Amino acid sequence: MTTKSAATAARATVYGYPRQGQKRELKKAIEGYWKGRVTADALHSTAAELRRTHWQHLSGAGLHEVPTGDFSYYDHVLDTTVMVGAVPERHRAAVEADALDGYFAMARGTQDVAPLEMTKWFDTNYHYLVPELGPDTVFTADARKQVAELTEALALGLTARPVLVGPVTYLLLAKPAPGVAADFDPLTLLDRLLPVYAEVLADLRAAGAEWVQLDEPALVQDRTPAELNAANRAYRDLGGLADRPKLLVATYFDRLGEALPVLAKAPVEGLALDFTGPAAANLEALAAAGGLPGKRLVAGVVDGRNIWVNDLEKSLSTLGTLLGLADRVDVCASCSLLHVPLDAAAEKDIDPQILRWLAFARQKTAEIVTLAAGLSQGTDAITGRLTANRAVLASRANSPITRDPAVRSRAAAVSDADARRSQPYAGRAAAQRSRLGLPLLPTTTIGSFPQTTELRTARADLRAGVIDTAGYEERIKAEIQEVISYQEKAGLDVLVHGEPERNDMVQYFAEQLTGYLATQHGWVQSYGTRYVRPPILAGDISRPEAMTVRWTTYAQSLASRPVKGMLTGPVTMLAWSFVRDDQPLGETARQVALALRDEVADLEAAGTAVVQVDEPALRETLPLRAADHPAYLAWATEAFRLTTGGVRPDTQIHTHMCYAEFGDIVQAIDDLDADVISLEAARSHMQVAHELASHGYPREAGPGVWDIHSPRVPSAEEAAALLRTGLEAIPADRLWVNPDCGLKTRAWPETRASLENLVAAARAVRGEL
Ligand code: GLN
Ligand code: ZN
Repeated sequence: MTTKSAATAARATVYGYPRQGQKRELKKAIEGYWKGRVTADALHSTAAELRRTHWQHLSGAGLHEVPTGDFSYYDHVLDTTVMVGAVPERHRAAVEADALDGYFAMARGTQDVAPLEMTKWFDTNYHYLVPELGPDTVFTADARKQVAELTEALALGLTARPVLVGPVTYLLLAKPAPGVAADFDPLTLLDRLLPVYAEVLADLRAAGAEWVQLDEPALVQDRTPAELNAANRAYRDLGGLADRPKLLVATYFDRLGEALPVLAKAPVEGLALDFTGPAAANLEALAAAGGLPGKRLVAGVVDGRNIWVNDLEKSLSTLGTLLGLADRVDVCASCSLLHVPLDAAAEKDIDPQILRWLAFARQKTAEIVTLAAGLSQGTDAITGRLTANRAVLASRANSPITRDPAVRSRAAAVSDADARRSQPYAGRAAAQRSRLGLPLLPTTTIGSFPQTTELRTARADLRAGVIDTAGYEERIKAEIQEVISYQEKAGLDVLVHGEPERNDMVQYFAEQLTGYLATQHGWVQSYGTRYVRPPILAGDISRPEAMTVRWTTYAQSLASRPVKGMLTGPVTMLAWSFVRDDQPLGETARQVALALRDEVADLEAAGTAVVQVDEPALRETLPLRAADHPAYLAWATEAFRLTTGGVRPDTQIHTHMCYAEFGDIVQAIDDLDADVISLEAARSHMQVAHELASHGYPREAGPGVWDIHSPRVPSAEEAAALLRTGLEAIPADRLWVNPDCGLKTRAWPETRASLENLVAAARAVRGEL
């Protein structure tokens, strides 16, 4: 590899870093502030201390340029809303009274005022607060947070680069404010927004920023010519400003496609691109577009959203190719390190042989620094690290954990017939009807019952050794007894055991499957102060023993009506875990599906007549670009059918999904070939039922008639009215009656009241048939 002169030495940088700190200091301080136990000053100083620690860690590790402004008390899109002055009307008084309390009011709502809506940040498990805009929105610049954080970093003597959500992405992520016509296009506000960005850029320049990064991940999605034109205008205008820092436009999570030539030609000084996963296509596209002559290219070659050690030689080869395409090439993670946990070294329970394969934010930072050194000084300068890296990669590739011959030969032998029920739906439905003997409009729930304080205490007691496994299981059994006897009394038709033994619907299974790892400290921000610990699909997946059968059969032994077995589906298991990057996702899904298939078979053999396999993540894992949808849906639906396809015709398979907006996956829902699907529908007034019907969905469906996201109890009349609407789309012999989702976040009083109303509604509407 060529040795570059010091003037063009590659720099190591990142776009963002995990926010909460090693000991979850930020979460504790913010939640303490909400409870009145921590003052605003104490919160601010905890936050400043965390920023300082993170920057010093980054620069101590050898990073040349640290990001600023990526830190947040809740969410960086909400911070952008504050920066551009787009505070919704209903929150304005609170924000004016107190900026911090007003900020949290926008994030979480108050007794009287609803929060901003929250939704997923692209295809990650991070959630942002959706900007609400309308034709009357007036933007005003407020660069205080950005300037203050830049000033803090500069005061430490660091080279710092403010990171902002770019104006095009900000508008593309927004939705029409309440009361504004639904077809209002926020992008029409671009001309009003750009002067505000100009002002912020000027303020940052004045505060000492040489470079400012503008993140435009929305440009990696399929975009219309009008949207591409807006991006073109935005960067022509911002690039044309006289008083501005150098601009680095960053995109990540996928390939840029049609937007690449737009950004490559824009009058900005730098582009930051993702070169991992599907975004690896950026390399060829960049070459085809003639590269970035005269510009800085920041190359995201270290996967910023997964936890595997980088293949340093492969990255160096990509970087080497890129050197010919830009004036200067710097090294980075593919996206903010926000999406990975902080430090793999904190994991004391993971086998050291496997731990070596993992790279969390700290380890990724070191990889980026190594790659920059290799790029600048030649590979000789990093020989030791390359040798060590090669050994780690080889140990992973050749490990019995990643290569279990039994799992592999079984997966290879899967035939199309394994993923098909033995009879088409019509025949199955008849067999199930005679086996189950259910009334029309049967009632059921989605699985979980309230996760009470007692249950959480029991789990904590077990962990702390206050009670033993036997003591814990007694408490679980007592809970199941209560849940079953309640449902019998309430008159539900198909019962559930209530899932009291599950800490989480993915982790519970991950802990029991071979090849799946749980972490102790691998927290990743989901939203606000809510952090999750995604398990790691590390090796070939197998099931040493049954995972749920004893609880389901225990529940059935207490019940006079059918109890549903309850499993998390393969697609959702992948979606809420860190996945393998050494084989196609479809292969991992197939392994998980085969393990779950055995669980389904064991449930059936134990007498379970109804098995539900939840797939709430089927829609959310849809790839960002439509061209990638068919391949994804093919393996995803196959994995579901492989899980459920082996049962007898008279065993009824249910599935469940939440989060509305099913329009684009109705065909995939059909392809699951489940006998019954329950969906979220209460808030959208049964729109889902109509979508299914207009597609000609031939099987049974339970569009939810109780919105379980709120403590509000629906009246029997209200639920009955929703059922009547549902009947306009789905005939009575195929319509089920159920809530939108599981009840684990609800309390018992509203659960009782709502379920009683739901049963009453079903009885009333049955009487009208
Ligand atoms: N069976 C799960 C429950 O009821 C489903 C949860 C979900 O859809 N997210 O809790
Ligand atoms: Zn749900």
